[in-house]
Amino acid sequence: MTTASFATSFPAVTELSWQEGFAKLGPAFYTLLKPQPLPDPYWVGRNEAVARDLGLDADWLASHEALQGLTGNTVLQGSEPLASVYSGHQFGQWAGQLGDGRAILLGEISTPSGPQEIQLKGAGRTPYSRMGDGRAVLRSSIREYLCSEAMHGLGIPTTRALCVIGSDAPVRREEVETAAVVTRTAPSFIRFGHFEHFSYSGQPGQLKALADFVIQRHYPECLEADQPYAAFLQAVSERTAHMVAAWQAVGFCHGVMNTDNMSILGLTIDYGPFQFLDAFVPDHICNHSDTEGRYAYNRQPNIAYWNLFCLGQALLPLMDSQDQAIAALESFKTVFPEALQARMRAKLGLPDVQADDLGLIDSTFRLLASNKVDYTIFWRRLNGFTPQSGHEPVRDLFFDRESFNAWALLYSERLASVDAGQRADLMQRSNPKFVLRNHLGEEAIRAAKLKDFSGVHSLLTLLQSPFDEHPGYESHAGFPPDWAASIEISCSS
Ligand code: AMP
Ligand code: MG
Repeated sequence: MTTASFATSFPAVTELSWQEGFAKLGPAFYTLLKPQPLPDPYWVGRNEAVARDLGLDADWLASHEALQGLTGNTVLQGSEPLASVYSGHQFGQWAGQLGDGRAILLGEISTPSGPQEIQLKGAGRTPYSRMGDGRAVLRSSIREYLCSEAMHGLGIPTTRALCVIGSDAPVRREEVETAAVVTRTAPSFIRFGHFEHFSYSGQPGQLKALADFVIQRHYPECLEADQPYAAFLQAVSERTAHMVAAWQAVGFCHGVMNTDNMSILGLTIDYGPFQFLDAFVPDHICNHSDTEGRYAYNRQPNIAYWNLFCLGQALLPLMDSQDQAIAALESFKTVFPEALQARMRAKLGLPDVQADDLGLIDSTFRLLASNKVDYTIFWRRLNGFTPQSGHEPVRDLFFDRESFNAWALLYSERLASVDAGQRADLMQRSNPKFVLRNHLGEEAIRAAKLKDFSGVHSLLTLLQSPFDEHPGYESHAGFPPDWAASIEISCSS
């Protein structure tokens, strides 16, 4: 059923209909607590598309009650806020207990599209804050708000953001910035790290309760399997494979693929130093703090597998043998390349599979890399490539014209057996005109710091339908300015 048909059958509500969800796992999993107030909150952005999907009334979302409740200054009626405990591997090392250090789960609501959790990010200290202040700054909150919607617009599984609220309360990072709270939504915010926590702290009963909870609610098909926990691990591996294939195809670098930042539902989660590639540089590192390049663009698939291996290890107490876990992870190795190839074929406009497609895809990646071509612009311009014409707009992106010509010949030959209309349709849906490049976010953030939120609003609209033309916004689809290369995004947020 589409969102539009939900909207007609489900009236928008002004009150959130809370129901028991994560909280029923019991106190070993969380601490009940209240968010910490922020002075004089103001709206930075409200995402009416998310409100609609949640079945929420847009007027309610704009109300004083929502402003205070979603800042954490009041507790919305029926909500029982909590912070959950998890652990994780960070940059390849076991980091021990982490947990929601600045995220507070308001609870779960029933919506037209099923249960959704509502979480405030940046709403104050929790027992899991360690040395942190429990806050998020305006800059990173805007980035998360915009990027999660960009990913959704691109058809990539992700958490979403209902709104961003700012406050002039100072927050100390490399310099003093101001606070903000993002209201995030997802069917569940459970991470690989939740499983690692209960496994490595010697709580097998809780580990089983957690797995049963997630399987029952999100992977019910696994209950039918002979080995439900192995089937669950396999299903998580496959969802993760699809998610990372989608990242690679669109040129998205997550930046901090620690196991505590991996969603058990295969959603893109915890937007920090992420980046959409400008030039196609396969070993690009977007996180300024990632000195070793562990989370470079081209390492993301291997890291996803490494993280799944950690999840498999954490689930061992629920399985008959280690071999069972290893076997459950195997399908990543076929699902990931198949998913990536399917996405790349769509970007090339190839509706069917032919034996030498893999060679064409590989040579495309190699050509883009050796010419450091702008990734998004190349694919969008390729929509207009025709075998008969000179295809100047695409060729102009390459300094090595000879290699381009050789590739264009290969591609033209492949297109000979493709229906032009079908190809155009496929490419139009696969090659976005707009992605959240760092400099676009940066411009919106600079204005927002001066209380001009128009850039945040217009970017949100563009990114919600990134395949559309949006006349008048050509500059948002252009090459990055020179200063974009000097933007440094670290873990500091
Ligand atoms: P991240 O790198 O943002 O995924 O965060 C890793 C861990 O640090 C998580 O447990 C976060 O909740 C916690 N954390 C990050 N920033 C803060 C902060 N400002 N205050 C408290 N906890 C934080
Ligand atoms: Mg995190």
